[in-house]
Amino acid sequence: MRKLEYVWLDGYKPEQSLRSKVRVDDYVDEWSFDGSSTQQATGDKSDCILRPVAEYRTIDRIRADATRTNPGLEGTYVMCEVLSADGEPHESNTRTHCQSLVSDEWWFGFEQEYFMYKDGRPLGWPEKGKPRPQGDYYCGVGTGNVVGREIVDRHTEACMNADIGITGTNAEVALGQWEFQVLGRGIRAGDDLWMARYILQRIAEKHGVTINYAPKPQSGDWNGSGMHTNFSNQLMRGQGGQHVFEQACQILKSKHKEAIKVYGSDNAKRLTGKHETQSIKKFSYGVSDRGASIRIPVVTVSNDWVGYLEDRRPASNADPYKVIRHIVETLSE
Ligand code: MG
Repeated sequence: MRKLEYVWLDGYKPEQSLRSKVRVDDYVDEWSFDGSSTQQATGDKSDCILRPVAEYRTIDRIRADATRTNPGLEGTYVMCEVLSADGEPHESNTRTHCQSLVSDEWWFGFEQEYFMYKDGRPLGWPEKGKPRPQGDYYCGVGTGNVVGREIVDRHTEACMNADIGITGTNAEVALGQWEFQVLGRGIRAGDDLWMARYILQRIAEKHGVTINYAPKPQSGDWNGSGMHTNFSNQLMRGQGGQHVFEQACQILKSKHKEAIKVYGSDNAKRLTGKHETQSIKKFSYGVSDRGASIRIPVVTVSNDWVGYLEDRRPASNADPYKVIRHIVETLSE
């Protein structure tokens, strides 16, 4: 028998939350749940179906020991799509629309920023007043400069063990703020990011910490949280060319309003033109420009215009399936 942890997205708006339940079985198969408790069905027709779409089997890849797993995080995580009782994709199922569009030709690197919270305030912040201003915290080392590293280390190892495409982590600009990065091809990039979020929240539970994905949880001179999205397709990585990248930026510009609609709620509080962002009302792109909507990495230019682009607009609470869909749909037209 195996311990199978089924994970799915509920029907809450504007942002969906993660849900899970455990099944002990030999096989991964379709399952059902009470959709009337997740805003996905009414009480008289409450059944929704969980369709498994990606399996993450935990083994200890760090120590190359298949018999040892992270205590409390062993087993198999099963990412699921939600179907209505009639077997059709549920309206909350953003993955199905994304999957039908994106092929593995598309690569996505997400930079997921977030705050850790405890007792209603960012982890490490004093009960009254504020911590000292930003400056020491980004990639900080040492007590007083960084908090929550134990959770981050556990999360990184757990993602590696689950074969999620995690590529790095760092402490962010505000105290109690962190980032992890996930790289994947096609729909897997979205699956991996959702599962990495899930595992992070699971680990944080053990510390009485909540993960806050709001794009601007602290007003004032404190950085917000984004989900910078690096992306490329075959043309950008292969033949490349300045015109290919500039044309992509121009096309994305023409769909800026549509992008903002699906790049996370409350993003206007974050995209102000300050704190390394462009204003939500403007669209710009530039080489190496962290104040632009789209950054053309200097490595792309120095590599003879072969490489990738970074969309800096998505908020930390954005649904990666919606972000992938917008980029692929826009640039495939
Ligand atoms: Mg960052």
